[in-house]
Amino acid sequence: MGVCDRYDAICGLMRKAAEHAGRAPDSVSLTAVTKTKSAEEFLPLIKRGHRLFGENRVQEAKEKYAPLKERFPDIELHLIGHLQTNKVRDAVALFDSIDVVDSEELAEKLAAEMKRQNRFLPVYVQVNTGLEEQKGGVDPRKTADFVQKCRDIGLNVVGLMCIPPVNDEPSPHFALLKKLARELGVERLSMGMSDDFDIAIEQGATTVRVGSALFGERKQV
Ligand SMILES: *Cc1c(COP(=O)(O)O)cnc(C)c1O
Repeated sequence: MGVCDRYDAICGLMRKAAEHAGRAPDSVSLTAVTKTKSAEEFLPLIKRGHRLFGENRVQEAKEKYAPLKERFPDIELHLIGHLQTNKVRDAVALFDSIDVVDSEELAEKLAAEMKRQNRFLPVYVQVNTGLEEQKGGVDPRKTADFVQKCRDIGLNVVGLMCIPPVNDEPSPHFALLKKLARELGVERLSMGMSDDFDIAIEQGATTVRVGSALFGERKQV
């Protein structure tokens, strides 16, 4: 099976999950996660009309997507991996959405850099729903305050994102993210990956981030 066949299969499963949950199929989008994959591997999707992509490293994304965005200006590229504050300038210049805002320092640097570049990107706040020490994201109990702070300094918070702990049942994490979003008046939910995107859609995901199910296993992350 080629990447376009896998893409069609995943889109079909996404539609089914949405219908099963009584949601409109077009209320959930597919973020194709291309980390570690070369442009040749995902170019077939672009040629087929797919435009929404996710990468988790600034430098890797820049090398692959700066040339692609010249050819396909309507590509929408999301940063989905931890952002170091010294990469904020490049990230704001390249990406179309920063989906991993999780500290005040990062929020402030992003707000300042967006002003400097006059490029006001939407952002997602990452929530550490499993309270994992090694994982980025805001403590769910502090998310309301954090979102308010982001808004106060001028960031356009459009959504929340989470990565549930690998060995947990993902459902309660998705449900918690959905509950927080509702309380905070935030519209979008980025949750669900190759192994659990159908569950995430039933729980209200507006975009799912799928890598290996599209492109095959990665050698390393
Ligand atoms: C790699 C990655 C994904 C995609 O994971 P798969 O299991 O390969 O679909 C999704 N979200 C984030 C944040 C990632 O780093």
